[in-house]
Amino acid sequence: MKHPFNFDAIPMIFTGSKRLAVAKAFDTWIGMQAGTLLIACLLIAATWFSTLNRLEREEQLVIDHAQASQRTLNIIISENLEQVLNRSQIYRIAASQWFEEDRSQVETRIAGMLASDAVFTRVALFDARGGILYASSPSAQDGSIKPAIGMMFAAHDSKPELSVGPLSGAFGESWHVPLLFPVADRSGTRVGVLMLLLDLGYVLRLYQNIDIGKTGAIHVLMENGREIARARRGGLELNKRNDAAGESAALALKTGALIANDGKHLVSTRKLEHHPFAIVIRQEVADVLHNYNAIKKKHLITVAFLTLIVLGSAVWITFILHRQQKAFNSLAASEEEKRTLIQRLEEEKQRALALASQDHLTGLANRRMFMELATSHLFHNKRSRLHSALLFIDLDRFKAINDTLGHHVGDLLLQTVATRLRVLLRESDVISRFGGDEFVLLLTSLESEEAISGIAQRIVDCISERCHDLAGHDIQVFPSIGIAISPRDGQDVDQLIHHADLAMYQSKQSRSGSFTFFDASLNVRNVLQFELEQRFGRAIQEHEFVLHFQPKVELSTYRIVGLEALVRWHHPEHGLIYPGDFIPLAENTGHIVELGNWVIEAACRQLAEWKKRGVPPTRVAVNVSARQLRDDALVAHIRDCLHRYELRADAIEIEVTESSLMESIDVAGDILNQIAGAGIKVALDDFGNGFSSLGYIKTLPIDTLKIDRAFIADIRNSHDDAVIVDSTIALAHNLGMRVVAEGIETKDQLVHLKTAGCDEVQGYYFSRPVTADQIQELLIKKTLIPR
Ligand code: C2E
Ligand code: MG
Ligand code: MG
Repeated sequence: MKHPFNFDAIPMIFTGSKRLAVAKAFDTWIGMQAGTLLIACLLIAATWFSTLNRLEREEQLVIDHAQASQRTLNIIISENLEQVLNRSQIYRIAASQWFEEDRSQVETRIAGMLASDAVFTRVALFDARGGILYASSPSAQDGSIKPAIGMMFAAHDSKPELSVGPLSGAFGESWHVPLLFPVADRSGTRVGVLMLLLDLGYVLRLYQNIDIGKTGAIHVLMENGREIARARRGGLELNKRNDAAGESAALALKTGALIANDGKHLVSTRKLEHHPFAIVIRQEVADVLHNYNAIKKKHLITVAFLTLIVLGSAVWITFILHRQQKAFNSLAASEEEKRTLIQRLEEEKQRALALASQDHLTGLANRRMFMELATSHLFHNKRSRLHSALLFIDLDRFKAINDTLGHHVGDLLLQTVATRLRVLLRESDVISRFGGDEFVLLLTSLESEEAISGIAQRIVDCISERCHDLAGHDIQVFPSIGIAISPRDGQDVDQLIHHADLAMYQSKQSRSGSFTFFDASLNVRNVLQFELEQRFGRAIQEHEFVLHFQPKVELSTYRIVGLEALVRWHHPEHGLIYPGDFIPLAENTGHIVELGNWVIEAACRQLAEWKKRGVPPTRVAVNVSARQLRDDALVAHIRDCLHRYELRADAIEIEVTESSLMESIDVAGDILNQIAGAGIKVALDDFGNGFSSLGYIKTLPIDTLKIDRAFIADIRNSHDDAVIVDSTIALAHNLGMRVVAEGIETKDQLVHLKTAGCDEVQGYYFSRPVTADQIQELLIKKTLIPR
């Protein structure tokens, strides 16, 4: 059965027993309201029931009492009438003596009796034929009695002992009733009829003042139902016939009922014992109940009033309960709101904790989490003879992938690497991503350094596997891994990370896809980096930088057609430092813009110097880094230098790398257009290292492609590299670009490139980068003939 309360409406925050409790509470409110109304209804019903019951009983009592009174009155009246009629006996005796004794004496006696009698007012004696024999007083009505007398002497057996003469008021007062008694002689033979005029009014007048109500009536009836007189509060009525009341009284006499046939009257009937008369008392029930009805009305009004009070109270209580329920509901709602809020806060906290401890991209631990886990692990393993190794992993060329193929592909790649690491390593190892392409692992419980090497190699192998279909790209990346072993290489996690990082840097320097264990000597490099960074700013002012030049040789003529200016740092303590050791530093610290501007100016100054000395003119290429390409002032600076040293625009060439273009494609494109607009040539350096397509490159004002030396190095042995180089040359020519091959070290490479149609070459084979003075001699020679 469905629960009457809408269970689903209970806030979900209430669970289990609480939910049930809330449902019960709601039920209680509804139950209390329904209960209040029910109790009120029951109370009202009970009150009405008992009141009506009592009223009914009381009504019955009133009726019973009225009936009893009627009966008593009836007995009194009928007894009285009986006694009155019994007195007729002495007149009958006197009448029978009249026929036998001295008539005058009898008449005197009768007259005497009559004089003292208030009930009988006239005496008359008739013979059998109705002739008047004696009369106490004359009356013209005597003749009308004849038929009744005839009845008394009729031939049939049932001769009446008493008969009532005609009631017509002929005997004076209308309520005088002529009673006819047969008179017999001694032998019992009827010889005459005695007529006694009964003053019924005298009899009934006695009861006239008895309260039988407005409608009450005392009927005097003959035994056969004929009404002969009626008394009511208003007076006596005689000879009433054929009216409804008379008929009803006659019927009541016949049936002996206590309630008249119409149901509206109380009736009491009683026949006289010795005379053929009956008394019927009738009274309207409504009249009987008149007084009682007034009381009943009062009672009913009182109960109705009580009902209203109870109902009103119940409604009021229900209303109060309803308000309480509403208050409870809003309390529950606010409780729910509070709980929801708390829950949300909890969730937020959990989320924040997760965020704080998790790398959102890969789901691995983040730096913070790693530090905590690794610290705790190292602390608990202090006494263990097993090793823990901290591995710092960096993906080679990741930045270029990110820049060229987009961050989405970069993210997918990072996720793939994370998944591979997770699959490869044990649960107990801690895997984290510190940001970018840096993954840091803590491998635990390792037996030996060999075991660590084994794992490191497996990591290299698994990461190096080609990743297929990363948003449509198949990509292969190689990791550079640095390893620091606890506790040998560091007492705490920070130190281990720092050393593993140094070792990783070493790996990067050696070859792609390798791992290096930390070696204390690596630290030296770190110190050097620090020192360089500290000194960088001053170094430019103190003229510690110098340009070396490397020639570009045209393959068709072997003439030097250009130089590349390559910066070096004459450090007062560390001697000559190569750009690989300080350019990244300069890029990171922002010094690259200043340094780049210095290089442009130094190149221009050198060109002017050579011009002054009459050295054959040549074009000098300067390298411009990504950061410089975002510098609005770059073009103005180049123009300014050319102008100051009175050089033509084609005396200078700009070399930009693919990756520097990708870092800010729009801005770089814009600046390149300005540079080209100024008539300065642009070369794309280290081509093939990035992911830019020739399709994209052709949209930029690039005159020359410089194929990265990584492709040239193995060009004789690697079929793939040879194909890449050959097709790049062909495509570049197609797009109207010149092609320069970098890093030519052998004759074989030279031959291959020449065959492939490469325009120029640059490399140790012809000349290493050398000082301005040294290159000046080569410039004067103009050509570099291969050995
Ligand atoms: P890059 O522009 O590709 O310069 C060519 C690099 O290849 C030079 O290294 C050069 O010494 C080296 N090289 C030339 N021929 C050969 C060869 O046959 N074999 C080998 N193994 N290497 C060869 P370097 O001078 O150490 O410069 C390294 C990179 O530093 C340059 O690569 C360039 O990207 C950057 N760089 C150098 N000078 C500047 C500069 O003034 N400004 C900027 N932004 N970057 C510079
Ligand atoms: Mg270059
Ligand atoms: Mg290069």
